Amino acid sequence: MLVFKFGGASVKDAEGIINLANVVGKYKSEQLLIVVSAMGKTTNALEKLTKAYADQTDDMQAVYEGIKQYHYDIMAELFEPGHPVFDDVANTFVEIDWMIEDEPHDDYDFIYDQIVSVGELVSTRIVNAYLNEAGLKSQWLDVRGYIHTDNTYREGVVQWDKTRDSIKLSLPTQLERSIVVTQGFLGGTSENFTTTLGREGSDYTASIFAACLGADSVTTWKDVPGVLNADPKLFEDTVKFDELTYTEAIEMTYYGATVIHPKTIKPLQNAKIPLLVKPFNHPEEPGTVIKDGAAHVFKKPVIIIKQDQVLLSLSTKDYSFISEDHLSDIFSKFAKSHVKINVMQTSALSFSVCFDYKAEYFSRLLDNLKSDYNIKYNNDLTLITVRHDRDGIVKNLTAGKTILLEQLSRNTAQLVLK
Ligand code: ASP
Ligand code: MG
Repeated sequence: MLVFKFGGASVKDAEGIINLANVVGKYKSEQLLIVVSAMGKTTNALEKLTKAYADQTDDMQAVYEGIKQYHYDIMAELFEPGHPVFDDVANTFVEIDWMIEDEPHDDYDFIYDQIVSVGELVSTRIVNAYLNEAGLKSQWLDVRGYIHTDNTYREGVVQWDKTRDSIKLSLPTQLERSIVVTQGFLGGTSENFTTTLGREGSDYTASIFAACLGADSVTTWKDVPGVLNADPKLFEDTVKFDELTYTEAIEMTYYGATVIHPKTIKPLQNAKIPLLVKPFNHPEEPGTVIKDGAAHVFKKPVIIIKQDQVLLSLSTKDYSFISEDHLSDIFSKFAKSHVKINVMQTSALSFSVCFDYKAEYFSRLLDNLKSDYNIKYNNDLTLITVRHDRDGIVKNLTAGKTILLEQLSRNTAQLVLK
């Protein structure tokens, strides 16, 4: 049994959905579970809608109409008028209508998950209907009854035992009967509220299902030929890895390679299920295989560039040393503010941390820290991570730049640059 994951870029327009059906059609003889993300940039647009609703701004209806229109335009290209999918999608959007009718009272993260989740609920309705239209028998599955999480909204923590039981109970028989299409990125709480698993979490969804079902492999279909040594949008002569070990893939995603969500690998590694990263426009190409004991010699370094970084330094108000107690307090405040640390460094009197700038989390973080610490920060910085440095690439990348923080270990160099 195979698990496929199609991300937003692969289903961003009617052509993408037709291509998805073509790819799936090549695997007719297999049992297939298909995990789909929201179409194109829908999640960003729904985030904008959530903010507009929470702040009750004037553009709220316009943002919402734009999201609906985008989906209806794609559907108009794929289905005859009167096809039942139009009603299914309209009924799904009603979940947002109900929410935004009243003034916002609930917690922001809760509202976020109830609104943003509609992107995946709608995209899977459309994909499922189109597969059936294309003669590939498929059924739609509401993932919220299968992936159970706690109620940490926007970062749902998977309850593995309950999830495994639900998945094993009915999915194997459903997969014998037809293809199953379900939502990436979403989960459900015990009170039947919707949670999300963290941005770009659909890969993780695919890996949870694969681990629980003992799948033969997971394939994530991408708009690149496989896992590359660097971002092709930033570097010209990138190379594709044919194979990577789970460990190298975990390291790469940990340092910010966006090709796979960081939480994806571990469940697959534990269950020894290979992860294939393949190009959705050339499904016959081998892509990259991530598995145990993969053979790889790094002829080229792995380069990961993260823009829009903040470097923040904390010191105690009385200029005492940064002690273990301070560190534990600082870490818990970062966790509470949902800020993930990319690099950190301690000195006697200060503690420096580099992380992604996200306006709303950043202001939460400053609020949580400012009463106990002196804070200094720079933003608009770049974090460069180079693994397996070859040909002095670190030197080339940093030439002419101001290095604000540098950390070197045997295989990895990390630099924060201005
Ligand atoms: N649609 C969600 C996002 O854009 C999840 C995903 O794409 O994996 O973050
Ligand atoms: Mg996405």
